[in-house]
Amino acid sequence: MGFIRYYGGEINKSVPIRDALSLYMGVRCGNRKYIRCPSPDHDDKRPSAAIYDNNNICKCYSCGAVFTPLKVVMTAKGCGYREACRALIDDFALDGRCFEEQGRNGKKGREENGFPLTVSELRDIGLCGAMSSRTDDGACSPTILDAWKEDRTYAEELLDGKCGESLKNAEALAEACGRQMTDMYAMHGEAYWDSAEKIYDAWKGCRNAYITELRNRVGSFERSPDGRANVDRIVDIKRASASEEKMLERIADEFGIEKPQRITLSQKQQEKCVSFLLLCGAAEDLARASDGLNRIREISEKIRKAKTKEKEYDCLQH
Ligand SMILES: [Zn+2]
Repeated sequence: MGFIRYYGGEINKSVPIRDALSLYMGVRCGNRKYIRCPSPDHDDKRPSAAIYDNNNICKCYSCGAVFTPLKVVMTAKGCGYREACRALIDDFALDGRCFEEQGRNGKKGREENGFPLTVSELRDIGLCGAMSSRTDDGACSPTILDAWKEDRTYAEELLDGKCGESLKNAEALAEACGRQMTDMYAMHGEAYWDSAEKIYDAWKGCRNAYITELRNRVGSFERSPDGRANVDRIVDIKRASASEEKMLERIADEFGIEKPQRITLSQKQQEKCVSFLLLCGAAEDLARASDGLNRIREISEKIRKAKTKEKEYDCLQH
């Protein structure tokens, strides 16, 4: 067997950076954008590193370190480039033929003959942690990838079954959310929602104007020579207040700043605002449920394709 050259760029594209961080460094990124810097040379006290899903990298804004999936493996294992390439191909069951110069068949990506799903997709169909054998107590258990390498048909059946269950649940949820949304809408005529939206927008506009007015007043107060003595007090209030809104209200009280006229709503208008917000909430629930449903449909399609691919591959072999 000769010297194998790896296509690191392609490997980096085939493993989501979040999955690499989770598997090799035990970083639980979830959907968060910022995490603590994964560099061992940086004792990061706050999340200074951002995850860029589009470029599939993690970049620290404090020390400047940039992590690709391969860099994650090299850092975590203290190994070189070739070993890291091999690790990602094996651990993520990538189709090695697509990433090595020998036998390279011109096609790229995990869809060809490798494991079809990412860690996040496994999580979406209820196989949480199924790709990583690392548990909190350090014990190792067989993973779905181990199963895939041992007995592909069994692993596919497992994926298929889990995906079917999730699909049913997601469909039921999307249907329930859809019903709730349409019921709510049907409760009143179109004109009702139209005016409810207008009242809510007007109320929100006035509220924002009030906050802006307060902010301007505090700003000019801080800048004025007379106000300087009180700046320390303002800073104290800022520290003690959880939110900016609360802070502004406290400053207004403390320094006797008169509140601008606020809009008052009649009982009926208040009710309309509340129903409008509930309708917005129901619409958001529906959108979220549909997103989840579409995601699981895509996963189902990927599993189906992987099964077909394998059959085609079998046919070619015989
Ligand atoms: Zn850093």
